[in-house]
Amino acid sequence: MTSASSSTPYTDTRLLIDGQWADAASGKTLDVVNPATGKAIGKVAHAGIVDLDRALASAQRGFEAWKNTPAPTRATTMRKAAGLIRERADTIAALLTQEQGKPLAEARGEVLAAAEIIEWFADEGRRVYGRIVPSRNLAVQQLVLKEAVGPVAAFTPWNFPVNQIVRKLGAALATGCSFLVKAPEETPASPAALLQAFVDAGVPPGTVGLVFGDPAEISNYLIAHPIIRKVTFTGSTPVGKQLAALAGAHMKRVTMELGGHAPVIIAEDADVALAVKAAGAAKFRNAGQVCISPTRFLVHNSLREEFSRALVKHAESLKLGDGLAEGTTLGPLANSRRLTAMAKVMDDARAKGAKIATGGERIGDAGNFFAPTVLTDVSLDADVFNNEPFGPVAAIRGFDTLEEAITEANRLPFGLAGYAFTKSIKNAHLLGQRLELGMLWVNQPAMPSAEMPFGGVKDSGYGSEGGPEALESYLVTKSVSILGV
Ligand code: NAD
Repeated sequence: MTSASSSTPYTDTRLLIDGQWADAASGKTLDVVNPATGKAIGKVAHAGIVDLDRALASAQRGFEAWKNTPAPTRATTMRKAAGLIRERADTIAALLTQEQGKPLAEARGEVLAAAEIIEWFADEGRRVYGRIVPSRNLAVQQLVLKEAVGPVAAFTPWNFPVNQIVRKLGAALATGCSFLVKAPEETPASPAALLQAFVDAGVPPGTVGLVFGDPAEISNYLIAHPIIRKVTFTGSTPVGKQLAALAGAHMKRVTMELGGHAPVIIAEDADVALAVKAAGAAKFRNAGQVCISPTRFLVHNSLREEFSRALVKHAESLKLGDGLAEGTTLGPLANSRRLTAMAKVMDDARAKGAKIATGGERIGDAGNFFAPTVLTDVSLDADVFNNEPFGPVAAIRGFDTLEEAITEANRLPFGLAGYAFTKSIKNAHLLGQRLELGMLWVNQPAMPSAEMPFGGVKDSGYGSEGGPEALESYLVTKSVSILGV
């Protein structure tokens, strides 16, 4: 294991309300823990209802100001924020690694990608067009207007503390909405640094707001509140279903980006070296705590041994350690809940006859380190093949026909991402048509980009966080018919 070569100052996080950083009215805070050491490194303010009321009133004022700002001016401000994020990338990445655990290079990549996503949305916001529809009466002009839905409440998780916000924030601001986010209490400082860039770029007070506290208390209050017009959540399917039900009861627009269980189909004609390189890198990125992480490896039986051996070799080449330390390629799990979850996944897999080809256990007793793991001969009823492990675990099963692999891929209620490796265009098209997924990458690792739709089907949620579709869900449509008199 590598250890941290340097320490970078970590900062306490306050609430962002009405363009100002503030403590909670109660003065209450929560500790923030570095997952590489298990030690508290800072504090985050814990909002109560009185703070939420202030944030909501400000979000309403922010909405009035921002929606009445011309789209090209909004784009300029967003681009300015993106520039500041790029300038501050090293600092933001160091905060992110200390609170979340991922290697510094991955954290830096996340921050730079955030700047690019904001720029894309800034530009796309200039192209939110309505239309003029030919009328049945020549004296009448029929207009279709696209308007910002209103103040948005967002709930984002700890695995990509910056990027999970940016995909929502980018679309919301591009369309003229104000944006109030409850970011993760476990990883608060990098989201705060992200929003600081928008404050510094000059968004009107209340256009962006940031709160932390008790997730259930905040979501219950914000979703039901009449000021909030749109709800967007990224996290687990069970929590997503609860929040979608609450939003339904209050007739709020919803985007849900929930869990997956990504199949990786390695066909008989696959390039095994490419599959190991691409799927292996994707598997262990952010220690597997990624909603689109490859999880169910379905390998043609003629390639199964070769692929398993090569994936084990790849897993064993990773350098586990503190994300700040030089050379680390795999950080700790983000919180101790994940260690408990991994232990359960392993016990269950072992009990159901899986072979642990490498890894399978916690490393050391300080920090949340878990060895990169490859399981073979995994039974179909093992937990790891049914619920997303959200950790550095690859589970492998063989198949004989592509039809069998498609049936297995579609067996679960989830449908977020999937991967396939094949040299045949015919197979690639067949998989593109038949897999029940929101996203499929063929012969490559996941390559999400701002311009491509990002989202799932079935229990993985609805709505998209990329491409023009992402803006649609922050817009309402108004028909206006004018008779000139
Ligand atoms: P969890 O299900 O309790 O929480 C998931 C996220 O939802 C967290 O960010 C949490 O703060 C938030 N949350 C929980 N209850 C909430 C509520 N009532 N209102 C608003 N927000 C709420 O579990 P966890 O231990 O944090 O994560 C475990 C599982 O969550 C993982 O196994 C994974 O399946 C899923 N997850 C998915 C993503 C993703 O990118 N889709 C990200 C993080 C976690």
